[in-house]
Order: sequence, then C-alpha cells, then structure tokens
Amino acid sequence: MTSNAAEFERAQRVLVGGVNSAVRAFRAVGGTPRFIDRAEGAYLWDVEGRRYIDYLGSWGPMIAGHSHPSVVAAVQRAATRGLSYGAPNVMETELAERICTLFPHVEKVRFTSSGTEAAMSAIRLARGYTGRSKILKFEGCYHGTADSLLVKAGSGALAFGTPSSAGVPADLARHTLVAQFNDLDSVRALFAQHPEDIACVMVEPIAGNMNLIEPVPGFHEGLRELCTRHGALLIFDEVMTGFRVALGGAQAVLGVRPDLSAFGKVIGGGMPVGAIGGPAAVMDLMAPLGPVYQAGTLSGNPLAMAAGLATLDIIAQPGWFDAVSKRCARLVAGLNEAARATGVAFCARSRGAMAGCFMLASPPASFADVQAQDVERFKRFYHRMLDEGVYLPPSPVEAFFFSGAHTDADVDATLVAARRSLAAVA
Ligand SMILES: *Cc1c(COP(=O)(O)O)cnc(C)c1O
Repeated sequence: MTSNAAEFERAQRVLVGGVNSAVRAFRAVGGTPRFIDRAEGAYLWDVEGRRYIDYLGSWGPMIAGHSHPSVVAAVQRAATRGLSYGAPNVMETELAERICTLFPHVEKVRFTSSGTEAAMSAIRLARGYTGRSKILKFEGCYHGTADSLLVKAGSGALAFGTPSSAGVPADLARHTLVAQFNDLDSVRALFAQHPEDIACVMVEPIAGNMNLIEPVPGFHEGLRELCTRHGALLIFDEVMTGFRVALGGAQAVLGVRPDLSAFGKVIGGGMPVGAIGGPAAVMDLMAPLGPVYQAGTLSGNPLAMAAGLATLDIIAQPGWFDAVSKRCARLVAGLNEAARATGVAFCARSRGAMAGCFMLASPPASFADVQAQDVERFKRFYHRMLDEGVYLPPSPVEAFFFSGAHTDADVDATLVAARRSLAAVA
C-alpha cells in the first residue's frame, strides 16, 4: 500500500508544490497533505485507508454529502448522453430557472466553469455597464484568481491597491480600490475620492474566506445606499454563501438586494461550475446580446448542470436546510462548550451549513481580528484533530462546511475529538 508521504513526494516531482490549488499543500498547518482515495457521505478516506469526518466538503460544494446516490445517478445518466456538446442543453435552462426563483433580483443567468470566471466576468459586465474602470473590494475577501482581484490595500487608507501576487501589473491593480470589511467609513472615503469612477463594489456578503465573519448591522444597507447614490453596481459574491448559509444565500438572510450575484460551488454539486445572475437590463449587455464579451467551451456542461439540479433537489426539500443548520449549530455549541471546559481561547460560530472556528476568545469582526489568532496553537490543534480522524480546512483563515450527510453521531464524535485536541493544546 502507498502512503500520503510517498504520494506527496511523487506529486511534487510533476505538480507544482504537489498540488493544483495552493492551499491544498498544507503550508498553513505544516505536515503532509492527505491524498484522498474516496469520499462518501460525511467521510473521506486517504490512500492509507484512514477515515476522516470531513468538514472541508471540497471547500463548499458538497452540501449534500459526498457521492450522494441521487447526484451520482444524475451524473451517470447525463454521462451516458454525452459529456459535452458545445451547444445548448435543456438542463442549463432548468438550473437557471431554479436560480431565478431562489434569488429574486436574478432575471437572467450566465453559467461559467468556475467561481473565478464568474467573479471576473461580473466585473467586466459592471465595467461595461457603467463605462467606468475602478472596482472596490474588501481586504480579506476572496473572489477567485482574476488579476484585478489579486490586490491588497496599498499603504495609507486612500492609496491605490497594490498587487498581492507577482505577475499582476501595478497599472491594473491601481484600478482596484481596497476597503475594510465591516467599516463603512473606509468605503465612504474611497467613494469620496472617486465619486464617479467606481464601476462596482464586490463583496462576500457573509465573509467566508477570512474564516467566517458576519457583517455588522447596517454594513450592507450602507453599501447598497452608497452604490445607488454613486451609480456603482453592488455585486454579492455568493460563490460560497449561495445555497449554503440559506437556500436563498446571504441576500435572503440579510434582506439586501445586490445588482449582480456570482455563484459557484453548491450549484455544481461537486462538478466545475460558476454563474453570474442579475436583472435583464444589466445581464443583456453580455454577448451575444451586448458588447461585453463572455464565453466558455465547457460552460453549462451537462454533467455539471445535472449534478447541480440533483443537489438543489435535495437541499430544497421542506425542512432540509433547517435540520442541517440546527445540527451544524449543535456542533458549534459543543465546540464552544469544549473551549470553556478546557480553558483554551477558542470559539466557533455558524451560519446555516457553514461554520468557523477560531483560536480567539470571541468571534472576529474584522480581517485584523482573524489575523490575531494564535496560529501555532491552531496548527497543533489541526494535526491533533486529523489524528483523531477529523478533517478541518487546513488553515486558520478558512471556514468549514457542514453537510446533510453529517449525523448526530458524527457531531458527537467530532466533539469528543475536539475536547481531547483542545485539552492537548491548552
Ligand atoms: C471559491 C470562491 C471563489 C472562486 O471559485 P472557484 O470555483 O474556486 O474559481 C470566488 N469567490 C468566493 C467567495 C469563493 O469562496
């Protein structure tokens, strides 16, 4: 039998860092990434045959659990009818209809193959619609790997953004303004400086890429008002939160209506997918109806559409979301109880089927709070949990994901592991 270490060694010879997405390399927690052999329900098995209760959920898509029989059957059915056509199929319309029903501001949809493409295309659309160049994003929010979005705050509150990755031209980064999540004043200041140049404000409405940060009351109402006043589009990146914090996404929870939404993850049920949605008056600016070019060979892929439709069928069942959210909340309550019992500065919170745990005494409200975590202690906790058979996202700045396959027994087993692991790092 092979081992994770042997496979990592082998992978590093031909794959950059041994992986195809940077965070999988375990750099934030150290140690050897687990090479996954198979996944079913709430569990992953690595190539050494070890089983883990999985709270990564492929970083969000697997809300129905791994290898859900009806999703697998839908994909198998679709596969026997052809893997890709490069021509329209009816499932694209059906999935778009579902999204329009669940998200009231969405009249039209365009599918892509990833969340990155969706966010990138939404920005192009906003720029095309407004005729403006600048975009505004928030430090710590992630919208995929498009050049314009790999930008961090420059020095000084009103400075232009600077690239956060090599290979992104400073000239391009200048068009990305970076504000602070939960800090409306930082947004107001940027609008004051560029009152008529900002095409859009893009935000994760409930932030899930700097671990889980809830918006403070009034934050999104303020963004909505500023965007409307200045003629900028408000774009909610619901790639993570859509169909995850609630069936209707963060916008259903918050009661604030964006101009455009970006989707991904859950709507592909584990297959590569992304989507942009919004009112026809904006969406129709995209090709072939309008001048904003957008295309993709595998966009609307029949296997991805089949997996997405089957997943929505599962999670839209009456009571399904409530039950899963409650079980996730029970996990979080148990984690907080374990923190109290062991005296570790640790806490957890959840929203729907998404959660976060922090090496902090109380939940964070800002990117700076998240960064104040005891990272060394998180690393020890992380590996202790892995040894106990619980797979958390391998970074202190990532949220974790619950699914319909996680049972009360899985929650109980996780809490036993967490109590032992917290005691070990106390
Ligand atoms: C995952 C994610 C993306 C990128 O999606 P990919 O499918 O990985 O390209 C964009 N925005 C948010 C909020 C995400 O969580």
